[in-house]
Amino acid sequence: MIAGFYGKLTQFVSKPRNSIKLINNNNKAMKFINSNLEDKIINFCKSETKITFLTGAGISADSGIPTFRDVDGYWSVGSVNYTPQELGTYDMFIRKPLEVWKWFMYRKDICNKAKPNISHLIISDFEKLFKNRFSLISQNIDGLHKIAGNTEERYLFIHGDLEYSRCGFNCSNELYPFPNFKFDRNYEFTEQQISKLKCKKCNLFLRPHVLWFDEFYEERLFKSDSAIKTSKETEILFIIGTSGSTTLPVMIFENVIKNQGIIVDINTKENYFSKRLKNYNNGYSVIGKSSKILPEFFDIFKKHYKQ
Ligand SMILES: [Zn+2]
Repeated sequence: MIAGFYGKLTQFVSKPRNSIKLINNNNKAMKFINSNLEDKIINFCKSETKITFLTGAGISADSGIPTFRDVDGYWSVGSVNYTPQELGTYDMFIRKPLEVWKWFMYRKDICNKAKPNISHLIISDFEKLFKNRFSLISQNIDGLHKIAGNTEERYLFIHGDLEYSRCGFNCSNELYPFPNFKFDRNYEFTEQQISKLKCKKCNLFLRPHVLWFDEFYEERLFKSDSAIKTSKETEILFIIGTSGSTTLPVMIFENVIKNQGIIVDINTKENYFSKRLKNYNNGYSVIGKSSKILPEFFDIFKKHYKQ
């Protein structure tokens, strides 16, 4: 793993990145946090301000879940190859509901087999440590944060949740469990299986409770206003495994900057956020796997937080 530092860590930039070793008071080597950032964390721990985690597909990559945005999400119907951006749309659901359902049953099956990784578990530990000072905003629909122990009260699912389905034609606001049956992608649905994909109230098709590419953020289904409100109250924002390619995460990020909050971006590649943070006083960007990086951050918060 190569760890890269940006933001205020300029004093180390001239050194080879993988040779950075900082020593804290316990003589324990710190690879990702310098004394300047540690001081800010100490001040945060003494305050009553809020910490927010914004996560995306990158955090679940270590659990074996593909992003489903690129080639890994392509889906063949006969001789036609659909991209995720074509298939993950309301328009396609109206035209080919069974194909859209097959794709999502396949994805749900992958999620069901996956387990939370160290990053999910540490974020859950952050919630246990900071309780009502903690919020989680996630673009992930895989449910791994919940399995790791994050509670729904402090968790905003801004792209939906594959645990649920809802009426595809909005006959009510009710959420239903995701249809639960074994399905082989090489076979067509049986009549009995299709009946499980229908809304009990209006008998039209249910749909997965997720935000599609041709849909918009909204409060009623995806808590987008709540996410904006949370961002305005955030003193420390961690961004993990998301590259800023959708509008709401970017708005959340910009709101924290407006309030001069601290932002730590942890991603495996340079991205919109890491680039923006280079010229921001309170910004820190670490290039690498969050499962390697987050434990050090948690240790520092835990060391300085007196409950
Ligand atoms: Zn209905």
